[in-house]
Amino acid sequence: MPLPARAEVVVVGAGLAGLSVATRLAAAGRDVHVVDAAAHAGGRLSSERIDGFLVDRGFQVFNTGYPRVADLDVDALDMGWFGTGATVWADGRAHSVVDPRRHPAGTWETVRSPLGSLLRKAAIAGFSVRAGYEPVTRLLSARERSAEQALRSACVGEVAMERFFRPFLAGVLLESALETSSRYLDLVWRSFIRGRVGLPAAGMQSVGEQLAGRLDPDRVHLCVRVEQVDGRSVRTATGTTTADAVVVATDPDTAAALIPVVEASAPRQVTTHLHVLPASPWQHPLIVLGTPGGRLVNSVVVSDAQPAYSPDGRALVASSTLTPTREAEVREEVARAQGVSSADLEHLTSVTVTGAQPAATPPLQLRRPVDLGGGLFVCGDHRDTPSIQGAMASGARTARAVLRRLSPTAAVPTGGPA
Ligand SMILES: Cc1cc2nc3c(=O)[nH]c(=O)nc-3n(C[C@H](O)[C@H](O)[C@H](O)COP(=O)(O)OP(=O)(O)OC[C@H]3O[C@@H](n4cnc5c(N)ncnc54)[C@H](O)[C@@H]3O)c2cc1C
Repeated sequence: MPLPARAEVVVVGAGLAGLSVATRLAAAGRDVHVVDAAAHAGGRLSSERIDGFLVDRGFQVFNTGYPRVADLDVDALDMGWFGTGATVWADGRAHSVVDPRRHPAGTWETVRSPLGSLLRKAAIAGFSVRAGYEPVTRLLSARERSAEQALRSACVGEVAMERFFRPFLAGVLLESALETSSRYLDLVWRSFIRGRVGLPAAGMQSVGEQLAGRLDPDRVHLCVRVEQVDGRSVRTATGTTTADAVVVATDPDTAAALIPVVEASAPRQVTTHLHVLPASPWQHPLIVLGTPGGRLVNSVVVSDAQPAYSPDGRALVASSTLTPTREAEVREEVARAQGVSSADLEHLTSVTVTGAQPAATPPLQLRRPVDLGGGLFVCGDHRDTPSIQGAMASGARTARAVLRRLSPTAAVPTGGPA
């Protein structure tokens, strides 16, 4: 169905932010149309089948510690789970470092792991308890610095910093200098302490598709690029739609191009190489961390967590670097991380995602304005935090702002925590 010439609300972008706005507005009885340039809903959460393997566009995970996961039907996603922790290579051996609350059988190996003295491990536990259980308001009012400075002042120690925190966080923040805001580090660490990390049986794209499935299919317009937004008018190749409210929910660069007052945040990038192994080398589904001096930040048998990613029981391995790399440059390192011979690795595909996430350096600007006035709104991970949580939280905030504009006198639901 083509976009109509007139609509109550047009949302530009069917990523998690745009879909979070649209589903809320539709549930409130509003006439809302969603337009996306891509052929699928879900935005940066995108998956495809290659030779029968399910391949997400860059290694990414779903974290149930995010508050806005409450908006999703997690059971319907049929999740497969990673263990809470990581595998660390040191002294020629692979060591499991796990959260003893979730994996009591791994406590002894974790206590003996080469991450520094018992005192340092107690400091790591203290840092985790604080991030996991202090009220968010207190975390957000703590002195802000870089993530690295915060970890140093928590006394986690040099060894744990280089063997564990730097590669682990580099895979999440997509930067290894750990220059990200300590406040965002606290929020991210909190989500790992409180939640589980896994992959849906139909790939990460199915998270967005679940939200899109709540909308009238005739009002979701895929493969339609918006060329211009002028106040409450949206122009595409086939015509112009005028609405009472227009929400620009694109990636930050496109938002800045469509709305000049919006500033794009610096983008983070990642390159992920996918390999197939005859079988998984591991007994437990843990992320293997890159080693100091190496190029990989992590290497993960994704099919250990979610067997549906493999068509036939062979192991699907995703290995990521922060700078663009060619497969041949990292093949030996992938083999070492997985403890196999490089001859066993069958290269499936590689992908570089340039605008994977906006940076979140200090000062962290949580809850940037979404209501630009005159019926124009902007949302996306760049308005909150560079994550699934940030995208969905900004969508929830924006939906409330749109409802306030459409019905200034009606009570607008608060929609729970952002
Ligand atoms: C490789 C990778 C790994 C990640 N890992 C994680 C992770 O493990 N955990 C986590 O929480 N987050 C992760 N993220 C970040 C997370 O995916 C994003 O923060 C979130 O999906 C952003 O959602 P969004 O709706 O703000 O933007 P997007 O998903 O970018 O959605 C914007 C939409 O706008 C559309 N669009 C753009 N221009 C136009 C136009 N002109 N006309 C019409 N439509 C347009 C796009 O097609 C897109 O669908 C990862 C991201 C990547 C890429």
